[in-house]
Amino acid sequence: MTKKIGAIANGVNLDHIPQGNAWYIIKLLKLERKFPVGIGLNLPSQRMGFKDLLKIENYRLTPEQLHKVSVFAYGATYSEIENYEVVQKIQLTLPASIQEIIVCPNHRCVSHQYKSLFKLRSNGDNLSAQCHYCEHNYDLTKLTEFKL
Ligand SMILES: [Zn+2]
Repeated sequence: MTKKIGAIANGVNLDHIPQGNAWYIIKLLKLERKFPVGIGLNLPSQRMGFKDLLKIENYRLTPEQLHKVSVFAYGATYSEIENYEVVQKIQLTLPASIQEIIVCPNHRCVSHQYKSLFKLRSNGDNLSAQCHYCEHNYDLTKLTEFKL
């Protein structure tokens, strides 16, 4: 069984992405048609049971992109690689709030006319997202509609 995807010379690794979230990150970063990307899905992880993994060649995330990606990659490790060496490593945490990305499941919510704004909170394994406009609280891991 192969657990590893080939090492990359230059680029970034996003490891320990919550299972199922790699797709959102690919869409969010619009990677589909641009860069060589190694995608690992449903890989066994001692810490998480299963995880996703992305290796993107010749790529760096801007702080703004990292902020957005963290909505889907809370707890993940972001590493920047140069000549096969890790030159920067960041453990991603859930941002306190996020604009635009989350679509409020409440169809009558006024946020659909604006840029959505959600407050994010983690409490142990519970991750909640509260809409700034209608104030409904959602389980972040159960949300499926995003503007990416
Ligand atoms: Zn709302």
